[in-house]
Amino acid sequence: MLVIGAGIMGAGIAQVAAQSGHAVMLFDAREGAAAEAKGKLAQTLEALVAKGKLSADSVAQTLDRIEPIASLEAAASVRLVVEAIVERLDVKRALFKQLEAIVADDCVLATNTSSISVTAIANGLQRPQRLVGMHFFNPVALMKLVEVVSGLQTDAAVAEAIFELSKAWGKTPVHARSTPGFIVNRIARPYYAETLALLLEQAATPAVFDACLRAAGFRMGPCELMDLIGHDTNFSVTTSVYEANFFDKRFVPSLVQRELVDGGLLGRKSGRGFYRYP
Ligand code: NAD
Repeated sequence: MLVIGAGIMGAGIAQVAAQSGHAVMLFDAREGAAAEAKGKLAQTLEALVAKGKLSADSVAQTLDRIEPIASLEAAASVRLVVEAIVERLDVKRALFKQLEAIVADDCVLATNTSSISVTAIANGLQRPQRLVGMHFFNPVALMKLVEVVSGLQTDAAVAEAIFELSKAWGKTPVHARSTPGFIVNRIARPYYAETLALLLEQAATPAVFDACLRAAGFRMGPCELMDLIGHDTNFSVTTSVYEANFFDKRFVPSLVQRELVDGGLLGRKSGRGFYRYP
């Protein structure tokens, strides 16, 4: 199989697929990014070996199965593509169009989009029925949920195959229709929006918000979670849900988010968001 995008999510998807025994090609538009992602994964898995949580053999096998590739043409024979690139409709559409000219007619095309309409991504493809959402959660290796998202033209058999594959990877899949934000991201929008509104009102600091929600039983607070997701991605998700709901003011994106994105303070991945990371 082929994973496209070697960022936070693509690296995690490649890891889970490889740990489940698949040979995985990993491609990223930024030169060297796929190899860097594999290098980081090696460090993470080796740390788990040192803690006795994984065997050195299983880690070596997982890493052997992941092959960074420098050109999509190298993946002409794959049966499944999972796309995890930037959250932009135009870029995703262009990529899938390009892929259709490379892969076989029966290759399944899956997108890890968090919020963009699967129906819209498929528009313009020669075989839109083979495009399906396979929405993982961050961090992919730990989070069990996968939303299997069907657009208007998605073939039910394709969705079912991805549902079964997710189960085989140890995940807990659910079927979802391609509504704006699907299930979890739609429900989560007000959670982030109210947090960001409280920040604008200077109610308390991000650390206080996070401590409150942790004390209330959440595994992470909202600010640390937004830092983990990446503010660019989270802002794109909010914007796309807002637009898809005909600019319903319940979903208006936050100025706080936009300022963080404009300033390149994207969260963990850039070294600084609400918090600083070494
Ligand atoms: P990221 O910024 O960490 O990584 C994206 C990668 O895609 C980058 O390495 C970039 O170089 C690469 N890329 C961009 N355009 C490309 C192209 N045209 N071809 C090939 N590579 C390209 O982003 P991420 O957080 O991994 O998000 C990726 C996708 O997963 C998005 O659609 C996002 O909405 C979705 N998602 C993200 C999260 C999250 O918590 N971050 C959770 C679920 C789903």
